[in-house]
Amino acid sequence: MPRDKPTIAIATGDPAGIGPEISLKAALDTAVRQACNPIVVSDPGVLERHAEACGIKVNIRALQRIGDADWSDQRLNVFNCPTPDAAKLDFGANSAASGRASLAFASAAIKVALAGEVDAVVAAPQNETSIALAGITFDGHPSFVARETGTDENDVYMMLCFGDTKIVHATLHQSVRDAIAMITREKVARVICATDAALKKLGIGKPKISVSGLNPHAGEDGLFGREEIEIIKPAIDAAVAEGLSVTGPIGADIMFHKKGFDAFIVMLHDQGHIVAKLLAQNATAAMTIGSPILFSSVAHGSAHDIAGKGIANPQAMIEAILRLSKAGRAGGLRPALA
Ligand SMILES: [Zn+2]
Repeated sequence: MPRDKPTIAIATGDPAGIGPEISLKAALDTAVRQACNPIVVSDPGVLERHAEACGIKVNIRALQRIGDADWSDQRLNVFNCPTPDAAKLDFGANSAASGRASLAFASAAIKVALAGEVDAVVAAPQNETSIALAGITFDGHPSFVARETGTDENDVYMMLCFGDTKIVHATLHQSVRDAIAMITREKVARVICATDAALKKLGIGKPKISVSGLNPHAGEDGLFGREEIEIIKPAIDAAVAEGLSVTGPIGADIMFHKKGFDAFIVMLHDQGHIVAKLLAQNATAAMTIGSPILFSSVAHGSAHDIAGKGIANPQAMIEAILRLSKAGRAGGLRPALA
């Protein structure tokens, strides 16, 4: 059937947490179904248990192939990813089986995105304790997406999204000492390039990007450090020479007051995360950029304590899906995936 809307795969995250519930609520949401064609990637048995416990009415069409999806009726397309050992687990329990299942769902969704069968992937929360019990090394979605898509882990970045604000991190989960050592002219150039490409995929024709400094007051002309003069500014100048619209470096403490930017790039985890956690109305979405696919997770936990109760709020996931849906509407996705 013709695909008038982007197809978005929703990987349901940890089977013992709220992931299946918020995935179901989001996939059945009217605004989501208007904006895109959702396909849930999960074990139908897991979904049915959560639906029943949470009082969600759902009629599942289990698919062996994405090509068999059909959005002409109210049924929910579920790309079958069987995880028999995780389907019967208690809500709220940590286990190796649920750790394995959450990454199996994400991995299956990434594979169909790489194959061009879906336009983007949204992943519900995983549980890091359960993943560790499964003996799998996992330090967040960006490096996972890099491994699953064959991208260099140093070339993927996290873009935190809430409302219209997008914040990209040049470095993320490492010691500040190690992060500073990683900030080179090439690194800053690559993160600017990945940000520009991701914004274009999201339908912004000529993205305007602001880049922070590393030091107080962006170095104050070298008084408080020279990384801005020697590394960040030259990388910005090179991007501008390539025709990109990039401004900075600007002190990270004042940068977010500036209007008119489609994304802010920061050098360190806390420069961006403090702002996001203070300002976001709902949980933020974390988009992984720099890989060949569009991938977003929802930056809240698996909330084991309220799993199966029907009270989990799907709003952050709905926002993440709607944001990715714009990519398809702008027609920006297909060429990027080709
Ligand atoms: Zn973090």
